[in-house]
Amino acid sequence: MIDCNVLIVGGGLAGLSAAVHLRRAGVEDVMVIERMSGEQYGHYHRTCGEAISDRMLRLSGIEADCAVRRIDEAVITCAGVDISVRVKGQIIDRERLLEAMRTQSGARIVTGSVRSVRRDADGYTVMTGSEEYRCRYLIGADGAFSIVRKSIFGHVPEVRIATVNNIVRGDSDSGTIRFSVSPEYNGLYTWDFPSKDGLRSVGYTIGDDDVEGYVERGIRYIVTSNDRTVVKEDCCIVGDAAILANPLCYGGIGVALLSGRKAAEAIAKNDLGRYQRWARRAPMLDHHYMEAYRTVRAWAPEDYPDAVVPFRRGSSFILLRGAYGMVRRPKWANVYTSIWMGFKFCW
Ligand SMILES: Cc1cc2nc3c(=O)[nH]c(=O)nc-3n(C[C@H](O)[C@H](O)[C@H](O)COP(=O)(O)OP(=O)(O)OC[C@H]3O[C@@H](n4cnc5c(N)ncnc54)[C@H](O)[C@@H]3O)c2cc1C
Repeated sequence: MIDCNVLIVGGGLAGLSAAVHLRRAGVEDVMVIERMSGEQYGHYHRTCGEAISDRMLRLSGIEADCAVRRIDEAVITCAGVDISVRVKGQIIDRERLLEAMRTQSGARIVTGSVRSVRRDADGYTVMTGSEEYRCRYLIGADGAFSIVRKSIFGHVPEVRIATVNNIVRGDSDSGTIRFSVSPEYNGLYTWDFPSKDGLRSVGYTIGDDDVEGYVERGIRYIVTSNDRTVVKEDCCIVGDAAILANPLCYGGIGVALLSGRKAAEAIAKNDLGRYQRWARRAPMLDHHYMEAYRTVRAWAPEDYPDAVVPFRRGSSFILLRGAYGMVRRPKWANVYTSIWMGFKFCW
């Protein structure tokens, strides 16, 4: 049996961010259990658009030289209309970021796949195939299918979207990330982001599209929900394990890093309730995003052209256009605001 003070299940962005901030706050005896290693781990974490806003990176407090491309515009194409949102962010080299966080955390990181988690009188017992761990605090950072969430919290994501991300050859010099919304994607969309070294990331929901000639392809799930229960006694969940990604823009990197930070700071103060209060109040986790998502998922084919009518004459001065849209199409007001806010503040 191995004992530690804080045990983190999952060595991805959320888990390693928690480990880095625990160390900064002076919390000792921290362990991370990660089920993957080597190329399997790299492939899993490369299956992503890798876009993060400057604002979220700053809020997360993670410092690492991992930017590969500046991003200054998001273009959403719907019913033949391009809607442009000015943004400030970057495409990151996620493997470099993870490596930097591993070094900064100073935590004991072990390879193992957690199979069961249970609450005891004075902490938690966590079992992998070959080892038993005991800890005072437990952090579930084990992604969309979190075993910690399942065992301790019991709630499931409202939505699971199976996506395919393809790395393809193409122009990686652009600062624009593109989204294409159409009835054929059933209220969802495809994305096309610049990457590094003459590569792009092109993705979509499984079964909705296809690209040929990809250099690499990965499949992963995006989960969304409005359940903001992230703390139970001395256990908390962060990042995708806590189902925190934005349902409209799928932004989950920033909130994974930030929730790891908030959980770590709460543990350092011996008051996990602080993290729960943050999750309930943070504007980026507001319930309006999920409501807008549900509205768009329920759109009939004729709703797509209808929703973009206010943007037909051009999409510059997007705020003004959005306000005009709300007057002309009040029934889509929450969709306009949530998409704008989502692309501005939630990735
Ligand atoms: C195709 C795609 C594109 C995306 N594009 C973007 C984007 O451009 N921008 C953005 O902001 N977000 C994007 N996201 C969302 C973002 O990738 C996730 O929200 C983010 O990875 C969440 O990080 P995490 O650390 O919480 O979880 P994960 O990245 O899933 O990490 C969880 C870790 O836990 C480990 N683990 C799981 N189970 C166990 C277990 N039982 N035992 C031990 N270890 C375990 C896993 O191996 C993994 O390393 C995208 C998601 C997908 C699927």
